[in-house]
Amino acid sequence: MIKDKVRGLLQSLPPGVTLVAATKERSPEQMIEALESGVSVFGENYIQEAKDKFAIIGKRVSWHLIGHLQKNKARQAVAIFDMIETLDSYELAQVLDKECKKINKVMPVLIEINSAAEPQKKGILIEEAEAFLKELKPFSYLKPRGLMTMGPFADDPELIRPYFRKIKELFTQLKKEFDFKYLSMGMSDSYKVAIEEGANIIRVGTAIFGARSSQS
Ligand SMILES: *Cc1c(COP(=O)(O)O)cnc(C)c1O
Repeated sequence: MIKDKVRGLLQSLPPGVTLVAATKERSPEQMIEALESGVSVFGENYIQEAKDKFAIIGKRVSWHLIGHLQKNKARQAVAIFDMIETLDSYELAQVLDKECKKINKVMPVLIEINSAAEPQKKGILIEEAEAFLKELKPFSYLKPRGLMTMGPFADDPELIRPYFRKIKELFTQLKKEFDFKYLSMGMSDSYKVAIEEGANIIRVGTAIFGARSSQS
């Protein structure tokens, strides 16, 4: 039951940790059950899917974008989302700033970090993060509030722990210079380890809703 999973999960979280329910492939009915059980943030990966669900569910919850955003979808994204967790390029920042300006909306963003420097993954490298953040300063409609990372894929979350730890160190260092508050790390299999390593946003799908139909 979604209700029991959400309640159990929320009760287990330390104070100050926000649960983002990762809702890709989930129906509006499932999402409404989650929100009625206490979920206050949905994380969506795809713009069209998010738009369709936003039209049904609306602003009863906050909406975070947790998937890669293509520049040509920036206009639609800024209309829906309350936070973009996946800012991963200067070009995207440029377009987002422009679109936010048009609708006079200041957008909180997290910088997605490619913590294991995997070539197939999106995100800014650890050693480039500070320079990237400095480049964002002219964009007055974007407000960088922290970091997000996926971490490398591993069956054992203990193998991801060192990457979470590195991103927490980066977060602590950048917090001295930037107005950082959020560190988004950890999914169903790894959120406990992520919280131990300092995450205050976790993104959980499977542990709430069960396996996605695309998983097998
Ligand atoms: C799907 C997704 C999650 C949640 O994954 P689960 O393993 O289902 O908990 C978290 N973060 C991102 C970016 C995702 O795309």
